[in-house]
Amino acid sequence: MKRCHFGFMIALLSGAACGGNLRKNGHADDLTQDTVVSETTGKNPFKSVRFFLNPDYAEEVESTVRKLPDQAALIRKVEAQPTAVWLDTIAEVSKLPHFLDEAKKQQVASGQPTLAVFVLCDLPNRDCAAKASAGELAVEAGGEARYKSEFVDPIAAQFEAHADQPIVAIIEPDSLANMATNMHIPKCAASAAAYRNSIVYAIKRLALPNVSIYLDAAHAGWLGWDHNRIKITNIFKRVLQEAGGIDMIRGFATNVSNYTHLRNRDGAALALTNPCPNEITYVKMLAETLSMYGIPGKGFIIDTSRNGKGGIRHQWGSWCNIKNAGLGERPRAEPMPGIDAYFWIKPPGESDGVSDPSQPRFDEMCAIPDAAQGAPQAGKWFESYFLDLIRNANPPL
Ligand code: BGC
Repeated sequence: MKRCHFGFMIALLSGAACGGNLRKNGHADDLTQDTVVSETTGKNPFKSVRFFLNPDYAEEVESTVRKLPDQAALIRKVEAQPTAVWLDTIAEVSKLPHFLDEAKKQQVASGQPTLAVFVLCDLPNRDCAAKASAGELAVEAGGEARYKSEFVDPIAAQFEAHADQPIVAIIEPDSLANMATNMHIPKCAASAAAYRNSIVYAIKRLALPNVSIYLDAAHAGWLGWDHNRIKITNIFKRVLQEAGGIDMIRGFATNVSNYTHLRNRDGAALALTNPCPNEITYVKMLAETLSMYGIPGKGFIIDTSRNGKGGIRHQWGSWCNIKNAGLGERPRAEPMPGIDAYFWIKPPGESDGVSDPSQPRFDEMCAIPDAAQGAPQAGKWFESYFLDLIRNANPPL
């Protein structure tokens, strides 16, 4: 989703020494053509379905419509777009029947399979390299056991109870990326085994006929460097081996809650050593690395909720409510071969983290010059920011 500040520095420091990139043909950033990322195997779950519109997200948007009735038509265009539902606490899982029943209603009303996208985000020691999204479970307080029995098991039961509905599950933003680059942070090192075991368990339990699983794979500005792509690939490999093989998942989600542009060359200005100046290059290169190391044929989802406008950050490690961001490409299936979907995984308008230093979970990245001020806690509605996202939307709303 966000943080790569530590990983970014490490990557920057060591990037120059790591030698040439892994791309076999041509230049990594030759993106003028919408070329194939890699051949995927199996079915893209985003194809031939309509997308669930979350009424709870619509209600957040409506709270702003009520204040600005003269802009209602424009603002409501956001409501017409699908967004992911975040399961970020055990309590939130109790609302899962509500979301799935709503999706079922939309499926029945439209007469078309209706795909609901969920993000699982409640690992023990969540957000080990930053503070803004610190979670409720702690490794040292039995968090792994609770994650399995009180978080994953009830989610699996609900997904099973709605076997006639297509579901995508995106597993644990930032988590394995932190294992790749942030192991020098004691909290991350202390979380590694619990992260791995918990994710393996989630994959095994959620690999159901109606569920397609994607693991989070951070973004270009975090794992774009060759050595970082190799590290994350090895971590994925181990997790997938323990979970029962590479076919247990459909693919990977990138740029979750981040701002990396699809195609511009921002990255080249931010870090010369990174062979991935944008997200599409990253996905292409990651697909190649994965293939080379034995994980071929995977599909990718790119979060385009807030990456419409490039040139908005002064360091690639900025992740918190970045000023001047705009809504990006509208959610859709297979925007290019190998990419399963562009999707609004981060619900646009929800904060990345509180900007007031006196508040709990304050992270200094939410008070740097790149970060919009006046921000509420992560996940809460940040109205002025939402309006900026609309104003800066690219393509325009
Ligand atoms: C927060 C979650 C929230 C999600 C979507 C994350 O940064 O930690 O609580 O649900 O963003 O807005």
